[in-house]
Amino acid sequence: MRQYGLLGFPLSHSFSQAYFKEKFHKEGIKDCSYELFPLEDIKEFRSLLKKNPDLKGLTVTTPHKVSVVDYMDELDETAAKVGAVNTILIGEKLKGFNTDVAGFKESLKPLLLHKKALILGSGGAAKAVRVALQQLNISSLIVSRTPDDGQLSYEGLSPELISTHTLIINATPLGMFPYVETYPQIPYSAAGADHLFYDLTYNPEESRFLFKGKQAGAKAKNGLEMLHLQADYAWETWNSVN
Ligand code: NAP
Repeated sequence: MRQYGLLGFPLSHSFSQAYFKEKFHKEGIKDCSYELFPLEDIKEFRSLLKKNPDLKGLTVTTPHKVSVVDYMDELDETAAKVGAVNTILIGEKLKGFNTDVAGFKESLKPLLLHKKALILGSGGAAKAVRVALQQLNISSLIVSRTPDDGQLSYEGLSPELISTHTLIINATPLGMFPYVETYPQIPYSAAGADHLFYDLTYNPEESRFLFKGKQAGAKAKNGLEMLHLQADYAWETWNSVN
């Protein structure tokens, strides 16, 4: 039996387990399982691996994509560039990958009309989105509650910045189940029909962020397609050595 799973906290929002279970069923894969490994403190990561010696791979979600990097023996080129890991291959060594980049990029391909983007949040997912946008030649700015050099604060988000950045990506956990009433504080009314609001969250299907973008006339896309794509790339990664 090959055991895989999802590392993060909390995990009640995630569709990953249902996706892998259905995939295994549809493809007649009988020797694999995909379990949830809720881990509040990343310092417990090594002991989790010790307790689960059959684990062959993990996908990683909020809030550990960045902090788990320190536990890797090796990183592939994309994960090293992003500075975050969402897929771990477990063998004699631990190797970190980032399939969020390819997942996000692929999901955006039919919608490539945009030149400038705002990424809300500066965590692991935001870092992957930034690298994906660079590869697509879309310039981007990160918006953070505690901005570093070159980043924007929410207070600094003028209506003009919103109107000139037609792709706006929510890479914060705001709006994600069970905190469905929360949303990023941005001047939504400055958006219009040329805008695409992309929420990496997919649970609920339409977040408050997407709802408010649509009210302003924007198009909306949630993170479900990206979730499936990054999971498929994680599966390919795990099987590249088995
Ligand atoms: P994370 O590492 O926890 O980072 C999220 C970032 O959001 C933080 O660095 C923070 O940036 C900002 N943030 C956190 N709490 C906030 C709050 N209360 N108000 C405003 N900003 C806040 O999480 P992540 O791994 O990057 O994931 C972010 C979201 O994307 C999650 O909902 C996750 O499920 C989703 N996601 C979906 C997919 C997919 O395949 N669809 C893939 C990856 C991630 P600042 O401190 O700079 O403000």
